Amino acid sequence: MLTLTCASLSGGQGKTTVAILLGRMLAQRGRRVLMIDADPQANLTFYLGHEVQQNQPTLLEVLKKQINTEDGIYEIGENLWLIPADDGLDNAQEFLSGSGMGAIVLSKRLKEVSDLFQYCIVDAPPQRSQICLTSLGAADHIIIPVEASSKGVNSLIRTLSLVEELQEIDAFSGIVLGILPFRDKWVGNNQVAQSKASINAMRTIAEEIVVLPSILESEQFKKAIDKGVSLSSLGFEQLETPFQQIIERLQKNV
Ligand code: ATP
Ligand code: MG
Repeated sequence: MLTLTCASLSGGQGKTTVAILLGRMLAQRGRRVLMIDADPQANLTFYLGHEVQQNQPTLLEVLKKQINTEDGIYEIGENLWLIPADDGLDNAQEFLSGSGMGAIVLSKRLKEVSDLFQYCIVDAPPQRSQICLTSLGAADHIIIPVEASSKGVNSLIRTLSLVEELQEIDAFSGIVLGILPFRDKWVGNNQVAQSKASINAMRTIAEEIVVLPSILESEQFKKAIDKGVSLSSLGFEQLETPFQQIIERLQKNV
């Protein structure tokens, strides 16, 4: 199982959007995909149409090892499974910081199910929290979606510096698969100046890390997520280019 974490240290950077669309595309291609909602906002759980019932285990119980990891997994659709979250996940913070090795807890829990899936996709929270650290610590690959704006550039700088910190303490030894510009705005054939300038800034900051083809500003992404369908089935195959590139890069590493 190859674990891919979508991380970016600011709200609204496209983490959940990328996690869902990538997970669905891999599942449609016949891969067994485990999605993990590591954000107490639980947007991934909501968008995947899963309702956490009272007394049903979530990522919180998995992290705390109150259950076997397998018992926190729910089937969502063909080839697609989820370890859900609800706002109770905030209670994991204290447990993780008290465990003395918070950054490797999720990685250890996932080892239990690594024979069952080909890909695991983790939707990390926007804060620099213990849950974020354990989401990064579990990753073989990290994708950093960042809005094509100055807020996005700032999120990139903060996220890369956290990744470096984790590398220094050996809590992350995988690779950053790419930086993914999000909500890149074009008017006709012209890229809006702010998008252009911020993506150029990302390239400078990225150094040897790849800046992937951007996710264009488009209402079709929300439609695809709400309807649970792919962008290509809505007739917008060209919008899938960034995801196709990610899948190609992932397959080279499996
Ligand atoms: P958070 O940090 O709050 O979890 P996030 O990084 O997960 O946020 P998303 O929830 O994926 O970010 O996206 C932010 C918003 O952008 C959402 O409301 C989503 O519907 C919208 N959105 C997604 N794709 C696009 C797009 N291509 N163009 C415009 N808006 C989009
Ligand atoms: Mg999110």
